[in-house]
Amino acid sequence: MTKIIPYGRQTIDESDIEAVTKALKSDFLTQGPLVKEFEDKFANYVGSHYAVACANGTAALHLAALSLNVSAGQKIITTPITFAASANAMLYCGAAVEFVDIDPDTYLIDLKKLEQKLRTSKPGTYAGIVPVDFTGLPVDTEQIRKLANEFNLWIIEDACHAPGAYFTDSIGRRILCGSGIYSDLSCFSFHPVKHIACGEGGMITTNDEALYKKLVQLRTHGISRENMPEEKGGWFHEMQILGYNYRLPDLNCALGISQLAKAGKGLERRKEIAANYTKAFAGISQIKIQKQPHEFSNAWHLFIIEVEKRKELYDFLKTKNIYSQVHYIPVHLHPYYQSLGWKAGDFPFAEKYYSQCLTLPLYPALSYEEQDYVINSVLEFLNL
Ligand SMILES: *Cc1c(COP(=O)(O)O)cnc(C)c1O
Repeated sequence: MTKIIPYGRQTIDESDIEAVTKALKSDFLTQGPLVKEFEDKFANYVGSHYAVACANGTAALHLAALSLNVSAGQKIITTPITFAASANAMLYCGAAVEFVDIDPDTYLIDLKKLEQKLRTSKPGTYAGIVPVDFTGLPVDTEQIRKLANEFNLWIIEDACHAPGAYFTDSIGRRILCGSGIYSDLSCFSFHPVKHIACGEGGMITTNDEALYKKLVQLRTHGISRENMPEEKGGWFHEMQILGYNYRLPDLNCALGISQLAKAGKGLERRKEIAANYTKAFAGISQIKIQKQPHEFSNAWHLFIIEVEKRKELYDFLKTKNIYSQVHYIPVHLHPYYQSLGWKAGDFPFAEKYYSQCLTLPLYPALSYEEQDYVINSVLEFLNL
């Protein structure tokens, strides 16, 4: 094929273009009515009480950490197989990050190892945990909640891969990622490779009113205009805490609202593409795919295969104009994290996974023909 097939990309149609054009012609480019509309609709989509729109997924993680008073002297736990931002946002607040290795079959943080780490540490060692719904497969936040309650930890769920994903909990409830039922806060990204594109954009969801109010304030410099004495004048406001400018403009929200309306359809298409890959690679001994426990419904941001000759396959696919990707280089192996003391060998399952993983193209606009071409190219490489 002459057309390049990326691993992920946005789907923009006429209604998206119309929505943004309309916003451009309105009275507001930023901080108009579309911010609240996007927040309300997103909260409804994931089933949370509150949602706070912000500049990007990384800002969402940073704001979430700030709202929970993450600070120097604290230790936070996350997984090595995630985008660096999950850990970086904790470092922004001065906290230290520790990792728990992944389960080699689901690629998610290993909950047995997490429990072991907590049980063998002095009480109060850790302040919180940042589990990641990697590829769109939900982490079992019900299990993590039990540990969090026992060890007095908060949970910031990095759900950037997982809008629309869910699992069934022990009492039969459908727990959507971001619903705030077990996590204190959940963070989402609207980067173009993610499910919903805003250009740049992010969202934090929660069911906690106090956290919600603090997030709103932190998002705009820590300034409050609420309950100000009238005699101080109509302009009066106070900067009460140290915040940031992490707002999401109306322009981006216009695109987000329009994209969100199609998110359900896009999710169905993602599931279909993942099912096609799963079927095509079933029973092939040279290919390992992520285990999908049956009570978990993946939102399929990424479809990953593990193969022994990963680099050769990556290069081969590139000659065919298929631009696969690798998610992720283990966070602890980046030079910055190595400078903090982490080293190769610290998390063997994450490192083994990294040596073999490859992300294949998956996005709603990928055609049946293109997917067949990708599948056949992988099989051709394996001489099958
Ligand atoms: C995309 C992503 C982020 C960061 O989102 P941005 O919007 O790019 O800042 C954080 N964590 C994970 C797991 C992501 O995939």
